[in-house]
Amino acid sequence: ATPTAIMVGTGRAAKLGVLIKDATVLEAIDGVQTVVFDKTGTITEGQPVVTDVVGQKDLLRVAASLEAASEHPLAAAILTAAKQADLTLSPVTDFQVVAGQGVKAKLANKEALLGNEQLTKAYELSPRLQATLTKLKQAAKTVVIVVYDGQVLGLIGIQDRPKADAKQAMAALVKRGLKPVMLTGDNEVVAQAIADEVGIKEVIAGVLPDQKAATIEHLQAAGKVAFVGDGINDAPALSTATVGITMGSGTDIALEAGGIVLTNNQLMGVVNAFDISQKTFKRIK
Ligand code: ADP
Ligand code: MG
Repeated sequence: ATPTAIMVGTGRAAKLGVLIKDATVLEAIDGVQTVVFDKTGTITEGQPVVTDVVGQKDLLRVAASLEAASEHPLAAAILTAAKQADLTLSPVTDFQVVAGQGVKAKLANKEALLGNEQLTKAYELSPRLQATLTKLKQAAKTVVIVVYDGQVLGLIGIQDRPKADAKQAMAALVKRGLKPVMLTGDNEVVAQAIADEVGIKEVIAGVLPDQKAATIEHLQAAGKVAFVGDGINDAPALSTATVGITMGSGTDIALEAGGIVLTNNQLMGVVNAFDISQKTFKRIK
């Protein structure tokens, strides 16, 4: 493509909310076959809301106290729910993030932790909580398990809606012969429920943050891969992929790692990026 054609292409893209940081990306995206999406904040709104609190009376207060120092979107949802319930939080010590799983701390000098099933696997759920857990997951809710002093206090169900244009964008990609894939640290059942909702057939779930880049590398053995993500944890995968695409709402580190930024956070921006690349390079060939 001539420099002029590329300038026209990047200019048209910018108007559609697709910021192309360097021209080589526009060419690289042309041969991509697989488009991998992070779930939270990319496929979904990334503004999760607490919908269920099931367990002991102190459950939400303990959870919010633990999450007070966390920057995870799920922490924000739990803190909002606690605030709405007018709860007074307790100070914690020894706060520690377990990447892709949850958080740990000491509360009133006792061990407390919360997060996914992986993090809390050493603690047993009552049959009632086990049944609730299954029900929440099937409803596409992320479940946070709260443990205090060796005992499971209960479960918090959190819902994060898919973006309004997610379904339309996945259908448009499939129509262009591209394969959308979901890659997430969340569990299989929740991931699958959201994938079904938006029309993604392939789901890779339960992937820890430091394994995301390796998964992209593995997929690249079969052809060029674009990765779409938003979080700090997504930066290595964004740089590893043939093309890294970042949501404008993403963290600074993610924005730096991506070659394309979707300034309006719309997933249709991914489709637009492919269309513009195709037009730019077809016209000259
Ligand atoms: P994703 O890949 O969907 O963006 P993460 O890798 O950030 O998600 O986290 C994976 C999973 O770990 C979450 O779905 C959640 O179950 C659990 N988790 C991580 N951090 C927290 C936290 N601060 N509070 C509760 N759960 C957490
Ligand atoms: Mg994310």
